[in-house]
Amino acid sequence: MQPQELVFVPLGGSGEIGLNLNLYGLDRQWLMVDLGISFADETLPGVDIVLPDPSFITARRKDLRGLVLTHAHEDHFGAIPYLWPDLGCPIWCTRFTAAVLRRKLDEHGIKGVPVHVVTPGERFQVGPFDCALIQVTHSIPEAHALALRTPLGNVLHTGDWKLDPAPLIGPATEIDDLEAFGREGVLALVCDSTNVLTPGTSGSEAEVRDSLMQLIGRQTTRVVLTTFASNIARLETAIKVARAVGREPCAVGRSMRRMIEAAREVGYLQDVPELIDERTASNLPRDKVLWLATGCQGEPRAALARIAAGQHPSIRLDPEDVVIFSSKIIPGNERTLYNLHNSLVARGIEVITEHDHFVHVSGHPCRDEVEQMYRWIRPQIAIPVHGEARHLHEHLALAHRLEVPEPLEVRNGDLVRLAPGPAQILDEVPTGRLVPENSHLLPADDDLYRTRRRLMAHGTILVGLVLDGYGSLLAAPQLSTFGAVDLEREEGLKGTVVDGIEDAIEALEDDAALEDERIRESVRAATRRSLRLPRDKRPIIEVQITRLARDTLDNLVDDAGMVG
Ligand SMILES: [Zn+2]
Ligand SMILES: [Zn+2]
Repeated sequence: MQPQELVFVPLGGSGEIGLNLNLYGLDRQWLMVDLGISFADETLPGVDIVLPDPSFITARRKDLRGLVLTHAHEDHFGAIPYLWPDLGCPIWCTRFTAAVLRRKLDEHGIKGVPVHVVTPGERFQVGPFDCALIQVTHSIPEAHALALRTPLGNVLHTGDWKLDPAPLIGPATEIDDLEAFGREGVLALVCDSTNVLTPGTSGSEAEVRDSLMQLIGRQTTRVVLTTFASNIARLETAIKVARAVGREPCAVGRSMRRMIEAAREVGYLQDVPELIDERTASNLPRDKVLWLATGCQGEPRAALARIAAGQHPSIRLDPEDVVIFSSKIIPGNERTLYNLHNSLVARGIEVITEHDHFVHVSGHPCRDEVEQMYRWIRPQIAIPVHGEARHLHEHLALAHRLEVPEPLEVRNGDLVRLAPGPAQILDEVPTGRLVPENSHLLPADDDLYRTRRRLMAHGTILVGLVLDGYGSLLAAPQLSTFGAVDLEREEGLKGTVVDGIEDAIEALEDDAALEDERIRESVRAATRRSLRLPRDKRPIIEVQITRLARDTLDNLVDDAGMVG
């Protein structure tokens, strides 16, 4: 029987960069593409990562046929350890992604995940979907576009990609395969928007290698180079540059060592020299080592932050040493990173970033490359993804200029019918963000985080009351504050507040004094009043009530030998 409907539902990554989770549905059978995380921003204090809310698909897990991973970046596969146990579906990916995934699952103690390793170009079937991965260049080995063939039309889901004639690791983007898929006729192109605001092209990894060779060759002090651990081509560059300029390469940071191990296991980094260990490196003269460190985004627990703070066991930086950030700044992360730069510069260490020197190229396509993709694929429908609103908007404008018949603006949670046409948003499904907390997941809009933000901004005041059964005070109210007001140093303030609380309790009517919640309310109000808090200052005022019968108190005091 001919299928009735082909739909696309992004649950993450459309309207934001990160948290990629895309679904394709063919007559209620589902294929998931990617399952990623994002770093938490300042609205979630104390939280490291966030996950997309998969509840739409977990409710349909019996119809979820599988998960295809485009590549092993955290924003595409980092949520698997947290969300896979509730999905339970098989996973398809290529060798390198599988090697990195296996390490990740081991680290989280997750067993029994069925992983099918496929080779690019090979056709494989996930439920009703005829799938093939097409190799594309990106800032990690083995990134792929997913070519979906369905009886209702074909879809190219690009994943993260760019064009680079000399990517150094792995083959260049398989232009022939993309063109051939385009010739088959493509219903929808679901495409990376990250760099669509940047005109021109993204540049080549080979040019970065030449540039780093010159830059590092000139240095006469310690050099630390930091980049994403998964950028194996950049690591290979750093290792080769180190050898060429008479330095020994040494990797610091667990994630970097783990990535190098995964890359070697599947056949990358074979013709580069072994790295030396930290202990050996720390005994060499300062101009004889190239340190490769994790933490290019200023992550507080990564090697570079610890080096900058002078807390790393193997490496200590001196004035005139050099730190090269061979990476971009993830938007939203500027403050963290500038703080790290500042702490290095303040100690006389030279900081070199992509603003000072050609030390990085992006792994995403700039506008000319995106245009090129449209010329190869010639889709009926354009759906920009992997971008914030401003990226998606610009990408749509580009699709209009390129005369794509149906450019469609889509956000997380839109249920989009691709065929039969015309493409249309039919419905909105639940989306959101989840935070991993110990053994469970909490929605990012949970009260816990609202309270935490309020504590950070306004502090807290604790009031302890000991009352008898009728609501009369048996002892003076106890008052402590944390980060809210300076009770100790403001003359007489504490007494004023205590008096205010006592008055408020005395003023309560008899029946109100019997109810703890009503006492709390009036004590909170009295505390605010006595402190003369401005309207926009909202500390959390926590009132703890202990009720004692009068004779209990007398006995307690007797026991303590304080009367008599
Ligand atoms: Zn990526
Ligand atoms: Zn990505």
